[in-house]
Amino acid sequence: MQLSKLGEFRLIKGLEKFCETTSRKDVILGIGDDAAAIKTSKGIILITSDTLIEGVHFDLSFTTSYQLGYKILAVNISDIFAMGGKPKYFILNLAIPRTSDTKCVREIYRGIKKLANKFDIAIIGGDTSASKDKLLLSGTLIGETKKIITRAGARPGDGIFVTGTLGDSAMGLRILKKIGKKINFEGQGMKIKGSPLPLTPYTLSLIKQHLMPEPRPLKDISGVTSMIDISDGLLMDLSHICEKSRVGAIIYKDKIPLSKELINAARDLNIDPFRFAFKGGEDYVLLFTASSGVKINAFRIGEIIEQGCFIVDAKGKKTPFKAEGYEHFRRKF
Ligand code: ADP
Ligand code: MG
Repeated sequence: MQLSKLGEFRLIKGLEKFCETTSRKDVILGIGDDAAAIKTSKGIILITSDTLIEGVHFDLSFTTSYQLGYKILAVNISDIFAMGGKPKYFILNLAIPRTSDTKCVREIYRGIKKLANKFDIAIIGGDTSASKDKLLLSGTLIGETKKIITRAGARPGDGIFVTGTLGDSAMGLRILKKIGKKINFEGQGMKIKGSPLPLTPYTLSLIKQHLMPEPRPLKDISGVTSMIDISDGLLMDLSHICEKSRVGAIIYKDKIPLSKELINAARDLNIDPFRFAFKGGEDYVLLFTASSGVKINAFRIGEIIEQGCFIVDAKGKKTPFKAEGYEHFRRKF
């Protein structure tokens, strides 16, 4: 079957039988979550891997090498945080066209270092190869934790929470594509020719959210029953929790946190900000469930139910939602 029909998630599901780990007691969690988890005598090791490919994940006409380096580590950190872990060691594989220059590689590493220093992550190696004509970055991040939070623990009655505003990154990308130029976040207030939006602090903040997302851990994970990071969009990633936990969900539209920057940009472009918040993806905020009664410092957007997935609008109208968002081979937001 052609991958465009199958889609990324059904393809990965089909790989599970090759990644069967039941005979290995040390593998607590294999394929199917934000990271794999391995038990050792001292605790739990988390391992995750993510790739950024030119033409698929980024466009070099409006992304700097520094921003790419920063992002390849950021998206991996987000997966370790989604398991309740602490990032520790990073490995970077690079495939670079032979026409690139050394500055490009140095800038990638400067971007990685920026975040690695912030979270005290050691860069411990990698691999380098020439590519035919596209740049590829593939990062593997190893973390540690005492306890893992998986996608599978949500129970009916749990609250559903997000740690930050949604849709900003997707809107940032929309604006960046219109501008079509590299931005180093210093040219505030300037207007770029042909762009319907001036580069104001609010458009810059959206663009920065796309190019350099800042992963933040959930400080207190007591009472948290399941967790995932939002990389493919709220509806898609909440569907992953529902599928793994075998539950349903209700979310309330008027409880979805939208930034004033997104609201302003959506108004200027005459588009619905909720489309971005629900399906945009690359938010890299945490989506989690927690037992009712636990005090949580995050936005409560809904609750887990026995079955079915629904959005309730401000007037109380209930509409079912599907797992829509970003999916490789198939759906594009
Ligand atoms: P995320 O968006 O959090 O990075 P993915 O959707 O990329 O997660 O991956 C989901 C799960 O599928 C992870 O457990 C990952 O290890 C696994 N996975 C993805 N691609 C492959 C593959 N080619 N072989 C084995 N496992 C894979
Ligand atoms: Mg993830």
